[in-house]
Amino acid sequence: MSKENSFFTTNHLEPVTAWGGASSSTAYVYRPSTIEELRDILTAARQNDRTIAFKGGGNSYGDAFSNREQVVLDLMRMNRILEWDPQSGIIRVEAGVTIDQLWRYVLGDGWWPPIVTGTAKTTVGGCAAMNTHGKNAWKMGTFGDHVLEFDLLRADGEIVTASRETNPELFHAAIGGFGMLGCFTTLTLKLKKIYSGMLHVEGASQPNLAGAMRYIEERLDNSDYLVGWLDATSGGRGLGRAEMHRGIYFQPGEDPFSAQTMQVEHQLISDSIMGILPKSSMWFYMRPFMNQLGLRLVNTAKYFSARMLSGEKGHLYQQSHVAYHFLLDYLPNWKKAYGRNGLIQYQAFVPVENAEQAFTDIFTHCQKRGLPNYLSVMKRHKPDDFLISYGVDGFSMAMDFRITNRNRPKMVALTQELDEIVLRHSGRFYLAKDSTMRPQTVQAYLGQEVIKRFCDLKEQYDPEHLFQSDMWRRLFAVRSEKPVTQSG
Ligand SMILES: Cc1cc2nc3c(=O)[nH]c(=O)nc-3n(C[C@H](O)[C@H](O)[C@H](O)COP(=O)(O)OP(=O)(O)OC[C@H]3O[C@@H](n4cnc5c(N)ncnc54)[C@H](O)[C@@H]3O)c2cc1C
Repeated sequence: MSKENSFFTTNHLEPVTAWGGASSSTAYVYRPSTIEELRDILTAARQNDRTIAFKGGGNSYGDAFSNREQVVLDLMRMNRILEWDPQSGIIRVEAGVTIDQLWRYVLGDGWWPPIVTGTAKTTVGGCAAMNTHGKNAWKMGTFGDHVLEFDLLRADGEIVTASRETNPELFHAAIGGFGMLGCFTTLTLKLKKIYSGMLHVEGASQPNLAGAMRYIEERLDNSDYLVGWLDATSGGRGLGRAEMHRGIYFQPGEDPFSAQTMQVEHQLISDSIMGILPKSSMWFYMRPFMNQLGLRLVNTAKYFSARMLSGEKGHLYQQSHVAYHFLLDYLPNWKKAYGRNGLIQYQAFVPVENAEQAFTDIFTHCQKRGLPNYLSVMKRHKPDDFLISYGVDGFSMAMDFRITNRNRPKMVALTQELDEIVLRHSGRFYLAKDSTMRPQTVQAYLGQEVIKRFCDLKEQYDPEHLFQSDMWRRLFAVRSEKPVTQSG
């Protein structure tokens, strides 16, 4: 059988499901482990008139890596660490290396990935393609700020190297370019020096959204990580009451046990609760609370226990980096608690001066529609110099919504109403979390000029539009409707 004919056999047809489980489509999935295999698939797809989307760890909430009835290249097998210099903290890796692999490799030498997502299952390629952020975004910027150089496989099979000095335009567009300009094959990163496997952590409660924002603003200069977990179900003066977490690195010489705490084993968290209940079954016990009443109960209990334990002034303790950042990874299957139709996430980024009003409007609007969100996480950010950017000098709010067969159309309508609130407050959006945005919203927050520059680069690096995803077709590759105007 010729290569073309043997390419699209049904044994490669697989469902490709958004991380939240709320959408799924079928595609021809391939898992190359070398650049030669990658190139072969590119050639075969072109010959067969198929398009290709790239997939890393599959942790995006929407359709960023799906490509209905087309080709999806899962890059998790391209996961070798190629060069590591423990003196400078510079590492060169293949794009399928996960954050989990990365921290395990470098921790013993006193280094840590400078930007980590709330799960360590993301790949370096996926983090670069979405330009991810951590709980230190206002201070350390985004993932792309720590990429020194990358190799990108273009649609014609050639590899191009880009950095801030070489091909700077491509560098600033492919990072954040959601895989539409080419495939990252290797990336060179500068890591963060650390002096302990532990962090100083302050837990505190805040009575409302304004308090939570003030808590963050007052600690920007003397914290390394800041995050708030807000209750979006409470009303009145308690709207957005919050549990806050602040992380601070140990100084050189401060941890007398650094040799032990920087061992991988010291970071690992037990997979059971009190040695009895396996954490993998926790979703089962969480499920009865995944409704409006249960949600209010859990949020209220969470807030009052934080208030009793920490108060507004806060209480200090120590936590390993892994426990601080990736706690959810140690509750396997927790998303199953959301039920068969899964969840979507909605994340809005709003400048400081408008953020309190925007988030108040968002929370009250969700309550009015009877669709309050299950988990709201607030972080502080700063602008960045990448082309497709969600960066603002302001706050983001990430909100999880449960999807059911009945509420699905209402949820889509709700998120589009929220888009208008965010745009009215000069806000932005993040493609890694999106599943419902419309092209006119993208035009409103990115602007026609940015979209044109991105599309021009796409013509240059991928003139036949070989690289496509469901997200690309939903947001960029359609004739636009009249743009929504963005006002200050
Ligand atoms: C529990 C959880 C917590 C999260 N926390 C955060 C957080 O704190 N901060 C944050 O910013 N995000 C967060 N996210 C979102 C997640 O970090 C991003 O969606 C990230 O891009 C996922 O990486 P991935 O490897 O899974 O990539 P995928 O989701 O598989 O792909 C993401 C995009 O990258 C493209 N891509 C993947 N590999 C390549 C490659 N080699 N070359 C070119 N393009 C490629 C894909 O086409 C797609 O467009 C979280 C997600 C989950 C599920």
